[in-house]
Formats: sequence, C-alpha cells, structure tokens
Amino acid sequence: MENSLFFAKILAGWYQISQRNLPWRGTQDPYKIWVSEIILQQTQVRQGLDYYNRFVERFPDVRSLAEADEQDVLLHWQGLGYYSRARNLHSAAKTIVQVHGGVFPKDYQAVRNLKGIGEYTAAAITSFAWNMPYPAVDGNVFRFLARLFAIDEPIDTGKGKKYFTELAGTLMDKSDARQFNQAMIEFGALQCTPTAPGCSTCPFVDHCAALAKNAVAHYPVKQNKTQTKNLYLYYFHIQAGSPPYTYLKKRTEKGIWQNLFEFPLLESEVPLDFNELCQTKQFQEWFPPTENLQFKLVIENKKHVLSHRIIYATFYTANAGAQFATPAAMFKVKANEIDQYPMHRLMSFYLRPAHTTQK
Ligand code: SF4
Repeated sequence: MENSLFFAKILAGWYQISQRNLPWRGTQDPYKIWVSEIILQQTQVRQGLDYYNRFVERFPDVRSLAEADEQDVLLHWQGLGYYSRARNLHSAAKTIVQVHGGVFPKDYQAVRNLKGIGEYTAAAITSFAWNMPYPAVDGNVFRFLARLFAIDEPIDTGKGKKYFTELAGTLMDKSDARQFNQAMIEFGALQCTPTAPGCSTCPFVDHCAALAKNAVAHYPVKQNKTQTKNLYLYYFHIQAGSPPYTYLKKRTEKGIWQNLFEFPLLESEVPLDFNELCQTKQFQEWFPPTENLQFKLVIENKKHVLSHRIIYATFYTANAGAQFATPAAMFKVKANEIDQYPMHRLMSFYLRPAHTTQK
C-alpha cells in the first residue's frame, strides 16, 4: 500500500458505490447513533433494524429513555439478548440527564465514561455525530486490516487492540473521519467478510498481503483464551387454577439476565436427571411431597451458546392443585398476562406455542 491517502481514496470510492442505506447512517443525532451501535454489538444488521426502529420510536431521545421504567426498556429489548446492554443504555441515559443536563456530551472522554461505552463505541459516536477523528475499530475493521497487511498480532489482546487502533488512525482521512470509519466497518461487513470474502471484486486485490500469501483464512489471528463452561438450567412451569395462572421469579443476581423474569429454576454445572433434581434441597422446599404435583418433561437440553457459557435448558411442567402455596421468591401471574414481563431468549423459546419435546 503506497500511502494512507491512496488507501482512503480507494476505500471512499468503494463506499460510494457499495454502502447500504441504514437508518442510523442518515442521522447525526448522537443518541440514535449510540442506540444503533449498542444494538449492533451482538446482533446482525437485519435483525437489529426492527429493534432499532421500535426502540427509537418508543424512546425518541435521551430524556424519554432516562425517564422510562426499566421493565419497559427491557421489554423493548426482549429477544436481542445480552440484556446488560439495555440496562447500561438506561443507566447512561440517566447520567446524561443528571450530569450533562440531558444533552449528549460532545467530548470523547465524557462519552467514553458513560456506562457500557467502550473505545469503539465512543469513537463511532463522536466520529459519526461530529466528525471527530477517532478510529472506530470493530470486528469488521480488525479482520479487514489483519488480512490487508497480514498482521499476526492477535486481535483479542490489549496490545493487539492498541496496535490495530493506531494503524487505523494512521490510515484515516482525518478531514472526513465520519465517512472513513463508516466505510471501514462497511468494507469488513460486505466485502472482507468472515467467510468467503469477495476477493475477486475487491479494490485492494493487488495490495492484499494475506491474499498474496494465500492465507486469507488464517487472518485475523486470535489468542482465544476464553474458556467456555457448561451450565444446566432446569425450569419448572407451574400450572394451576382456573383461570390458569403460573409463577415467575425475577432474576435479581448480577449477570446478563439481571432483572428479567423466568420460571423457578435449578442451576447445576453437571447434568441432573429428574430423580437427582427431586433430591435437591431447593426442589423439596418448593415442591413438598404433600403438594402432590404432576411433572412432565417438555423440552430437554435446549442449547443456548453465550460467549463464556454453553447453557442446556430443560423445561418441566408442574401441575399443581388449587391449594398450591406460593413458594418463597416467586409470584403468581395470570397465564394470559405473562407477556407483560421481559424475558430472556430461552423463556421466549419455551413460550412459543409450537414447541415440542426435543433434545
Ligand atoms: S483481497 Fe480479499 S482478503 Fe484481501 S482485503 Fe480484499 S476481500 Fe479482504
């Protein structure tokens, strides 16, 4: 690659022709850019679009988000997963109202200090909204640069992140940081894709070091120290009464599902069969033999992959008599009002009417 001007010119030419028409690209409102970036952190653009439109329609500005009930915010996030993103959005909106008078701070460090906003998101917001020259390096940009220059530095270490961010900064057209960052991200998303990149139509084809070494698939390099652990969740859908009702629990402990609602459950790091579940102290407290509940297996070992965990969820129905006493930490909900409570994806999966017994 001859120089950064040459690079930026090729990239800008490609972007003019290839960019997608996405609603958050047409705005310079930092609030909307922020919402879109948080939604897109762990979500495909296609799926994120609907959520983005619904979210900004319900919460059109920082103040409306800050003043909303957390339950309402989580309901608008339901299905997107990684609920800490929604909780952080809500908390940061309150900070903007309390500390910055409801006006999005026009300062990189102040943006970076908001809850849930990392280096990438702060750079995206400040460059897209105000054209500030901070390189926004997401997974797309890591991949594209790693391949173009055949960089063996792992992208998932602090040192690697610094290296790639500095490289993006040296390549940046500082007179148009907004477009440069958007074009870099778009290039990785559409052209230099994770699998089957479009090398034959790539404007950098004559300059790509990974392609020249026939080693495109080798890049980007990852150190991959993340260990995944298995977790087994056993849910109990208690069914009682006429009109029918059930029981929910609010997950209060810290974690990705904090403040979401779910059926009572037992958690284990090893798989448990029904007899083993029955012998746990918690099961015996909730469902004493005197209650005479009828249990039925409905879904077994539904797999749900998170970044550090693989969850296997099993669901039982538990038919209870009308005199069933509400166990501690649960509350009673009419069956036809259950969708008023924000829930994580596994619960939504179970509540789909078409579910069937499966492995
Ligand atoms: S030639 Fe292929 S691997 Fe290289 S930058 Fe272009 S799309 Fe990516």
